Amino acid sequence: MNGPVRSDYPPSWYAATAVASPERPPLTSDLDVDVCVVGAGLAGLTTAREIARGGWSVALLEARRIAWNASGFNCGFVLPGYAVPIGAIIERVGRERAKELWALSEQGLEYVRTTIADADLPGVHPRDGWLSVSKSDDAEALIATVELLSDEFGAEVESWAVDRVRQTLQTNSYFNAVHFPRAFHVHPLNYALGLAALAEAAGVHVFEHTPAVAIDPQGVRKRIETPNGRVRAAHVVLAGNVHIGRLMRRLGGTLLPIWTYLATTTPLGAALGEAIAFGGAVSDGERADNHYRVVDGDRLLISGRATVWQSDPRRFAESLRGDIAALYPQLGRVAIEHLWSGVLGRTVHGMPQIGELSPGIWLASGFGGHGFNTTAMAGNLIARAVVEGDDAWRLFLPYELIWAGGAAGRAAAQIGIWWGRATSEAKARQARRREAEAAPEPARLPAARTAETPPASAAQGPDRARPAPDDPPPAVPQDVSA
Ligand SMILES: Cc1cc2nc3c(=O)[nH]c(=O)nc-3n(C[C@H](O)[C@H](O)[C@H](O)COP(=O)(O)OP(=O)(O)OC[C@H]3O[C@@H](n4cnc5c(N)ncnc54)[C@H](O)[C@@H]3O)c2cc1C
Repeated sequence: MNGPVRSDYPPSWYAATAVASPERPPLTSDLDVDVCVVGAGLAGLTTAREIARGGWSVALLEARRIAWNASGFNCGFVLPGYAVPIGAIIERVGRERAKELWALSEQGLEYVRTTIADADLPGVHPRDGWLSVSKSDDAEALIATVELLSDEFGAEVESWAVDRVRQTLQTNSYFNAVHFPRAFHVHPLNYALGLAALAEAAGVHVFEHTPAVAIDPQGVRKRIETPNGRVRAAHVVLAGNVHIGRLMRRLGGTLLPIWTYLATTTPLGAALGEAIAFGGAVSDGERADNHYRVVDGDRLLISGRATVWQSDPRRFAESLRGDIAALYPQLGRVAIEHLWSGVLGRTVHGMPQIGELSPGIWLASGFGGHGFNTTAMAGNLIARAVVEGDDAWRLFLPYELIWAGGAAGRAAAQIGIWWGRATSEAKARQARRREAEAAPEPARLPAARTAETPPASAAQGPDRARPAPDDPPPAVPQDVSA
């Protein structure tokens, strides 16, 4: 089932295990359609597919390859909610609107689940469950969030006490956790490639290597210029994420680009299953420092070390390995086989940008680190708006376009996030200190796997206070978690 390693995609475990998928030819002539979608990430693919399923003609333009960026190379967590905590959403739009937004986010998740199941998409491998684990001992806040989500928002969610967490994840770094049993994880590239095939089956004309280089948004028929052909359409959907800035500079300026780094280990054997007895996805820390999951039976896929500038993923091998050693020293010094990165676009308010910018010009962008369910949601909202005139997308009107501040904004964001991360690490250390003081016995630590396993401190130390030598100072967390 697996295709060859794809040299035009980031070298990664996903590319190495991608299903076979044809390369689509570029646009080489003029085309008239009802709707032109710009960008074939998850947002553009879902929007194009759903509009075509509504009976409209659709052209989907992709500057490079389908899902070559965030959509195909993310952690693969399909979660409910948004990149900002539910409390912040309630504060901004009120409780009733927040409930509607939460329900939409769950519909996005269910769309991904049913699309995979109905089409039996190959190579996607959905696995249930998401644990958001706390590194500090403040159980009250966590329980309050669980009660709010389950009692008032109808979410399927439960809190796990520290004993259950540590029986499941053999590390003393964690305390309580929130478990979302309906969340799941997938192979994102294979999902996107499957979605592209479904879009084509619904009638979408997909063109790769076809950047939209200019748009004339005036008039009933909008014109979209590409290097070798022009598209005329009644509606245009802009789904280009941070790269849309090359086409529309001011729109690009409303997103803060954040690169995140991912790695997969070589096969780790039975020791991995003993350390991580959980088939779902795990996010840890208040600032969501690491996200990880077991793939391919016994490999660990882990992300972290995000930056607001692009960096060579190889710089992060040692620090990601250090993260693994700090959490699970019993695994010994693991070897990293694949390393890659992707860039996400974060808005100032943290919520997606969904809506009609001017008559017939639609935007689906700014999904941050929480894009799997929200791109599916946005695609469906915009399709219903275009095809049926449905105005549910207006729930996102409070989240308007705000300039992200350019270079100064990036610097400010870095400092703020760096500070947040340092604070959260200090809280984690305090929590472990309190635990050690309360218990006369030394805290239970898993046994080392091999004699040559270096002490955890050699691989960055269990408390991770010291950054690894290759760690650029202003690291930012990835907001894959809500
Ligand atoms: C490393 C990483 C890990 C993540 N992990 C998760 C996770 O586990 N769960 C989760 O929910 N979210 C996660 N996210 C976030 C999620 O992946 C993104 O929010 C989502 O994929 C964004 O989809 P998109 O379609 O908007 O953007 P993209 O995937 O970036 O797609 C946009 C496409 O538009 C194209 N394009 C841009 N401009 C033009 C143009 N002018 N003409 C033609 N084409 C154009 C680009 O080439 C690109 O292919 C992660 C993100 C990253 C970077």
